[in-house]
Amino acid sequence: MGNYSKNISKRFAHTRIKQGYCLICGSFGRLSPDHVPPKGAITITKVEQRHISEVIGMVPSDVKGVPSPNGSKFKTICHECNNSHLGGNDGEVARVCKYLTLKIQDYFRYVDHPYNFIVTDVDSIKFARAMVGHILAATSIEECKKPPEYSPYFQPLKNFVLGDNSALNDSHDIYYWFYPFKRHVSAKCVAFYNEGHLSLISLLSFFPIAFMITKKNEGTYPAHASKLTLGDERLVLDLSSLGYSYSAFPFHGLKGNQMYALTDFQTIVSYPIGQ
Ligand SMILES: [Zn+2]
Repeated sequence: MGNYSKNISKRFAHTRIKQGYCLICGSFGRLSPDHVPPKGAITITKVEQRHISEVIGMVPSDVKGVPSPNGSKFKTICHECNNSHLGGNDGEVARVCKYLTLKIQDYFRYVDHPYNFIVTDVDSIKFARAMVGHILAATSIEECKKPPEYSPYFQPLKNFVLGDNSALNDSHDIYYWFYPFKRHVSAKCVAFYNEGHLSLISLLSFFPIAFMITKKNEGTYPAHASKLTLGDERLVLDLSSLGYSYSAFPFHGLKGNQMYALTDFQTIVSYPIGQ
């Protein structure tokens, strides 16, 4: 029993709650499970969740994750935020991801490519609103136990999800790139240090796209990333292999003078397991 309890994910302590403060609107009440990645954007399967610190070599790799028969879930937001603010925009994430997946399959079916980019049209406000909302939700129930405190980093993100289209104009930048992995990663807040520069990063990565938020004009991002300006009508993914070694950024395996600091219960990986 002693060994068993050592080898289960710490995530088990962060999933069960009935009532609490919604991590988007701040209201107190019953909490509702949010699928991250959203339903429709991926094929929902049996998955396990773990803290990412349990996957990247800090502890033994045989840690048992938190199982779910139907996708990775986070019970941290209210019914209204889940259904209106996220549910109303998830369809755009699903549509874009399905289209990009078809384009990617086509791309890798043929050897000769005149160019390495694929393009899709997008409603960037809807797409970003859903993705930012899921990033705010993908964390521990511990955050729902206390009334929300003002945060200059998170408040504009909440205001944007709640409907203010210009809330991020002066506070945040968004980057995205091709993410060619099966495992899903959510990181609500990571401090990433690169060559003397410290930046705050919030990230949600699932095939085929990594979506990252940084403080405005202060971000560190992979060279093959594209910047999303709210109002954009196209997404462009660079599929060239040059970017692969950085596509799991910021968990790509640190290089040179890089390091990061994170709160383990805010950085979660989920991955499909056998049925
Ligand atoms: Zn809410």
